[in-house]
Amino acid sequence: MQTSIPRIIIIGGGFGGIQAAKSLSRSKVQVYLIDRNNHHLFQPLLYQVASSALSPGEIAVPIRSVLSKYRNVSIIMDEVTSIDTNRRTVLMTNGSLEYDWLIVAPGSRHSYFGNEQWEQYAPGLKSLSDALKIRENILYSFELAEKFYHTSDAHKYLTFIIVGGGPTGVEMAGAIAEIARKTMLRDFPLIKKSDVRVILVESGTRLLSSFSEELSEYTKNALNSLGVEVLTGIRINHVAQDYVMAGNQKIDAKNIIWAAGNSASPILKSLNIPLDRSGRAIVNQDLSIGGCDNVFVIGDAAKHTNPNGSETPGIAPAAIQQAKYVAKVIAKSLPTSERPPFRYFDKGSMATIGKAKAVAMVGSFKSKGLFAWLMWSFIHVFFLIDFRNRFRVMLEWIWYYLTNRPGARLIIYSKKTVHDIKHDKQ
Ligand SMILES: Cc1cc2nc3c(=O)[nH]c(=O)nc-3n(C[C@H](O)[C@H](O)[C@H](O)COP(=O)(O)OP(=O)(O)OC[C@H]3O[C@@H](n4cnc5c(N)ncnc54)[C@H](O)[C@@H]3O)c2cc1C
Repeated sequence: MQTSIPRIIIIGGGFGGIQAAKSLSRSKVQVYLIDRNNHHLFQPLLYQVASSALSPGEIAVPIRSVLSKYRNVSIIMDEVTSIDTNRRTVLMTNGSLEYDWLIVAPGSRHSYFGNEQWEQYAPGLKSLSDALKIRENILYSFELAEKFYHTSDAHKYLTFIIVGGGPTGVEMAGAIAEIARKTMLRDFPLIKKSDVRVILVESGTRLLSSFSEELSEYTKNALNSLGVEVLTGIRINHVAQDYVMAGNQKIDAKNIIWAAGNSASPILKSLNIPLDRSGRAIVNQDLSIGGCDNVFVIGDAAKHTNPNGSETPGIAPAAIQQAKYVAKVIAKSLPTSERPPFRYFDKGSMATIGKAKAVAMVGSFKSKGLFAWLMWSFIHVFFLIDFRNRFRVMLEWIWYYLTNRPGARLIIYSKKTVHDIKHDKQ
């Protein structure tokens, strides 16, 4: 049906897209939110699905149910293939849609720095299917290690390499060490703690480089105490089916997890504007793109520099703040000359290292250990979108905290995840 009210298209139902739709729900506009998935995903807890602590349904919620009360918001489930800014049109796998205003919030994927062939052996962690793939690899590795315990291959299944020492890599390494060196051993009588190796490899000189040196050091020691071997200043320069080259060192492993780099959505290329090295759109101070004052890129897809010269980080609060700002500009139809520059307000950052250990930095305030972990837990539960999920996640955590038994250790999809290798008979 034709309407004369402004038509706004939002690409992406992540943190940025959902917030933009909510913020525009009280304006006299028609919003179309396009996402290739039917769910909004709470990425900060993805590693808990990958490590079997939570189930997919606890960190994802249908986009339709998040936005169902906003009657001027329509959801379209489809993949955006390109954007034609001259025709003000978004092209999808099935059909196209014209816009008056466009908000591009497609997030990012992991980047293998030109070695995309590594992905098949070293999956990254961005989507639910990534998390499930990693979970199945870990669980199936234990099955194979027990079955082939007396062969020379067993150690490969029990070696877990995490590439990248940022928050995702640290969280993943801590969580894997806990399940691989504690939980799983109870169920696999042959495998011993000393058989399991968890190795975190970081090319920079320290872990969590965006945190203070003191918190990096604490993180390294905390991981060591969980049994994680931390290798800093070492670059992974080759990934194969059952080993990696870490510098000059060959490490046999069937479980390699990539947490080392991001590259923004390929649809940004169709905007024909300058992109940075990670493929992010270099946006103006009002988050619009060169030559199109009605097109905004927000969240992980945008490279934005604040008026004070600092770069807005690729984290959820930044995407949410940008969405609110853009929604205001659109709701008031502000011309470029009247738009104040977007300014990111830093609310701090945190990362967990394992059960009851985390680090947090809010301005000059630093915290580590149990207190930081409690802060992390409350903030993450609080920001989970669905009330039912908050409740379920809290119950799961309490159960896991008391019993050390994560509840989602199920292999469902495939038994060919650990590269389907043939073995000698035992
Ligand atoms: C493992 C992990 C842990 C993290 N931990 C934290 C944390 O602890 N704290 C924190 O603040 N941030 C964290 N982040 C970062 C945070 O999740 C991102 O900064 C945030 O999700 C960015 O929001 P966004 O809206 O830009 O993109 P996203 O939330 O990634 O959403 C993008 C959406 O666009 C859709 N989409 C993409 N391409 C297309 C297309 N072509 N067509 C249709 N739909 C498309 C996707 O399906 C997705 O729903 C973490 C990220 C990861 C991966």
